[in-house]
Amino acid sequence: MSKSAGRRSLLCPRCDAPIDVSASTKSVPCPGCHRNIRTEDEVVNDYQARVEYYNEGHVEVAKKGIIIAEVRVRNLTIKGEVKGPVRARESVQIAKGGRLYGDVVAPTLSVEEGAVLVGRVEVGPKRAAPLDSPALDAVPQAG
Ligand SMILES: [Zn+2]
Repeated sequence: MSKSAGRRSLLCPRCDAPIDVSASTKSVPCPGCHRNIRTEDEVVNDYQARVEYYNEGHVEVAKKGIIIAEVRVRNLTIKGEVKGPVRARESVQIAKGGRLYGDVVAPTLSVEEGAVLVGRVEVGPKRAAPLDSPALDAVPQAG
């Protein structure tokens, strides 16, 4: 887990616009959709129910943490509970005792013994999170 001290390149969780930020940036406005993007690693210790939970950082849901939302993050570690579709750019890890109820799209997924995963899973290098989910606001256009 080496972090380069300089800059890092992100993609907007909403519109996939590329964004360069300094490694210490906590949030940045997206040049594409002009929404604010959180880029700070985060540990969730409480109950968070919202429409969307977006963070271009590493999010850990601690044992007492619950997220009920559409989740788009860079990395996700679940020790508590997540309900909702999850899309990670890099990895999803469900630790022992962690619960995930929802579909998962991620390049890599690890599920420890004792973890719960209920949902459809798409895992592999090609699942590196272009925003192509038809279940969301982007309705595919025919022809
Ligand atoms: Zn954007």
